[in-house]
Amino acid sequence: MLKQYANFLTHLECGLTGERHEAGLVHGLSNAGKPLLARYDLAAMKAKVDRDQVWARDGGFWKWRELLPVVDTNNVCELGEVDTPLIQLNRLHKGSQVWVKDEGRLPTGSFKARGLALAVAMAKELGLSHLAMPTNGNAGSALAAYASRIGMQSTVVCPDDTPSINIEETALQGAEVFKANGLINACGAWVKAGAEQGKWFDLSTLKEPYRIEGKKTMGLELAAQMGWALPDVIFYPTGGGTGLIGMCKAFDELLALGWLEKTDLPRMIAVQSTGCAPIVRAYERGERFAEVWQDAHTFAAGIRVPAAVGDFLILDGVRDSAGFAIAVTDEAIEQARVQVAREEGLLLCPEGAATYAAYTQSIADGTVTSQESVVLFNCATGLKYPMPSAGAALDLEQGHA
Ligand SMILES: *Cc1c(COP(=O)(O)O)cnc(C)c1O
Repeated sequence: MLKQYANFLTHLECGLTGERHEAGLVHGLSNAGKPLLARYDLAAMKAKVDRDQVWARDGGFWKWRELLPVVDTNNVCELGEVDTPLIQLNRLHKGSQVWVKDEGRLPTGSFKARGLALAVAMAKELGLSHLAMPTNGNAGSALAAYASRIGMQSTVVCPDDTPSINIEETALQGAEVFKANGLINACGAWVKAGAEQGKWFDLSTLKEPYRIEGKKTMGLELAAQMGWALPDVIFYPTGGGTGLIGMCKAFDELLALGWLEKTDLPRMIAVQSTGCAPIVRAYERGERFAEVWQDAHTFAAGIRVPAAVGDFLILDGVRDSAGFAIAVTDEAIEQARVQVAREEGLLLCPEGAATYAAYTQSIADGTVTSQESVVLFNCATGLKYPMPSAGAALDLEQGHA
């Protein structure tokens, strides 16, 4: 029998208006059509829960149980979650503090595991049985894996140019998978229409409240790994922005709990591709909401998100932390990927490589200094992505010259 933990979830709040929604019910977006944020009784938790005891537990992101919404431990589904390592780039940046948090070590090879594990567990807890979502890649396999693991049905719809590895791993892990003749937003509309007909529950990014709670654990884990302190700067590859929003929420909760030894919060940097940069454009224009990006293209599929429902939460997180938003070209992303792989032996995914490209660009233009401690997020294993062909032909008959 797994251990039960105290639960401190009190209610949910609209991320825009603060309107209160009851816990324990199935929720999509708020009445204002915006993401809902889970709220906890942090004062009660502060009195009852010991930081170091929580951090000493096994179980990867599931260790943060008192800061997560799941009430009944039977709804927790495990696939061998781990704390992901922080790897210092000490060959490329000797003497400075530049770290990669390598999320590729998680089940299904990406940090989508954090969000989907929580979304699936909560769906189970709230009595749902069939979940569906549109995806460009990694979210689909994480949904399939956790849904199958806990005995729920899943349906995943991908644009037909989604890398075949993502489609195939998702199907192998038990989801019904469709390759659709349209972009991600069109796939999303199809999922939404099915949900309205009662076929399934729509688990699209930020359209239900709990993926943020899963992604939030990146911020909790990072703080604990760094001795209950945070780096000066975080570079985050921003698609739907779940992770950036989640980490900002984690930092607020850690402050409220008094768990941080050093209360300076990091500057949050949203990294996008110049081929799809709606958040960067809105940041530069001083706007709080981002216009849809037309003709989105970049080979970093995880950040090819032309419209994000949580746009204002991303932009608030960036501005409130004195951070910024920056776009890098696909060429710079590829170059960064090759450089980090060759010189550090660390194979990044393109989205992770984008954060390294953004870091070097920010050092060059002076928006970040080499004295600042920096964490870059590598969100998926580089092994899931196409690689340049390699290997010179060798004729064994010829012997050595
Ligand atoms: C989903 C994804 C992202 C973007 O994450 P968000 O938190 O939704 O912005 C970045 N990189 C990879 C590899 C992804 O799968």
